[in-house]
Amino acid sequence: MTTSPAHADVPSSTPGGRPRVVIVGSGFGGLFAARALDKAPVDITLIGKTAQHLFQPLLYQVATGILSEGEIAPATREILRRQTNARVVLGEVTTIDVENRTVTSEILGRATVHPYDELIVAAGAGQSYFGNDQFAEFAPGMKSIDDALEIRGRIFGAFELAEIATDPAEIDRLLTFVVVGAGPTGVEMAGQIAELARRTLRRDFRRINPGSARVILLDAAPAVLPPFGEKLGNAARRKLNDIGVEVQLGAMVVDVDADGLTVKDTDDQTRRIPAATKIWAAGVQASGLGRMLGEQTGAEVDRAGRISVQPDLTLPGHPEIHVVGDMMALDKLPGVAQVAIQGGRYAADTIKRRATGKAPQEKPFKYFDKGSMATISRFSAVADIGRFKFSGFIAWVLWLVVHLMYIVGFKSRVTTVLHWMVSFLGRGRSERVATQQQVYGRLALETLGTGWEVSKTGGPKNTSPENEDATNRESA
Ligand SMILES: Cc1cc2nc3c(=O)[nH]c(=O)nc-3n(C[C@H](O)[C@H](O)[C@H](O)COP(=O)(O)OP(=O)(O)OC[C@H]3O[C@@H](n4cnc5c(N)ncnc54)[C@H](O)[C@@H]3O)c2cc1C
Repeated sequence: MTTSPAHADVPSSTPGGRPRVVIVGSGFGGLFAARALDKAPVDITLIGKTAQHLFQPLLYQVATGILSEGEIAPATREILRRQTNARVVLGEVTTIDVENRTVTSEILGRATVHPYDELIVAAGAGQSYFGNDQFAEFAPGMKSIDDALEIRGRIFGAFELAEIATDPAEIDRLLTFVVVGAGPTGVEMAGQIAELARRTLRRDFRRINPGSARVILLDAAPAVLPPFGEKLGNAARRKLNDIGVEVQLGAMVVDVDADGLTVKDTDDQTRRIPAATKIWAAGVQASGLGRMLGEQTGAEVDRAGRISVQPDLTLPGHPEIHVVGDMMALDKLPGVAQVAIQGGRYAADTIKRRATGKAPQEKPFKYFDKGSMATISRFSAVADIGRFKFSGFIAWVLWLVVHLMYIVGFKSRVTTVLHWMVSFLGRGRSERVATQQQVYGRLALETLGTGWEVSKTGGPKNTSPENEDATNRESA
């Protein structure tokens, strides 16, 4: 374990220069931290694994053909184009060297070292298969644009294959869609697949009846939407039943393969569900950068990979390292967008005060819970806001307004409203394109094995260590 000496405060290590703030991640925590540092006397480098800021809560609408990927993932560079103290760098952070205060990012074999005076780590979380990563091949998660487009291809593709299948059992398998995890993402996904089958595709096929598709929502837990409480959970379950989603609770997935799933019920009996399309919406695992920081600073890391932060969101003995969002563990705060946004702003405020010689903020980070919402189908949602718990149309209108407010960029808001009108007022879905690369590309690359990635010229390229490219060092 390497631990650098504790600092009473964090002066700029560039004599006479402005503090260098490196932010890892362009999600809710990272982007809102960068924006909160607008006009602050600091130089920001925002490093993101993707060139976009992804609005994850609407990924399921991309997966089911309502929205385009561009509407929920504007370019980070474009969002920050007027913020002259911020620079955007595309690359995956592979190393954080706490002692030397550097972050190394890599892209296509090129490594770049970024020195920092202040570091905000907001690398979020990925999907967890609870130790069964092999399920991922057959049941993709919903964490990225790639995931959503692959799932879109699989959903629409299943109907296409059913139309040309002749064996009734095979048609049933192709028209069975299983969503694992009855949290908000699973509920929204299952609801949208049911609406897609029964409304949008109703008249599009000649030999199959898309309305006969089975949509199953599975969870090992005994309730739907557990964080919303019993009343809203039951309301959501009733609405799901109304729109034709089969909710199966107390059902633990023990195996997943190309043809279906094996499920163990509470009576310990196992059963098989033949299903071509499986979607994993259960469990999260924080970015591995949390563990890397834990090893170097001694901060505790929990089973989900979240690193314990102090009440001011920094790591023990390292007031210059701030961890926010889904990666941090503090007071059992949930992994939701508002925790990340408010954490990012809090960390930015701490940094701004130091950079301007102001007294440190006295109050620890306090999360203000603005409530939670989940849609079930068009015109129906559940909302849990403070003392108020309601479901149905009003909750749905509220969901609509709140999500529109948080979509970044005017252009995206306008086109999102148009697409929502097409889907909610009409029957259509504007985004039904799925390319072969989206559906098969990930698996094709995986079969090439580790050590291969796509080169700048488009072909596969060996990236094993002996083949490493140059390393850039950003000027200090
Ligand atoms: C499908 C889905 C639906 C959701 N719905 C809701 C909802 O309705 N309401 C709600 O409040 N919350 C919802 N959430 C949760 C919410 O999106 C997260 O809590 C929030 O995004 C966390 O913000 P973050 O900044 O910690 O991480 P993220 O927003 O995930 O951002 C992490 C960023 O770090 C980048 N990154 C990761 N690793 C590296 C690396 N090594 N190097 C460089 N960059 C890296 C990623 O590319 C990403 O840009 C949902 C999540 C999902 C997946």
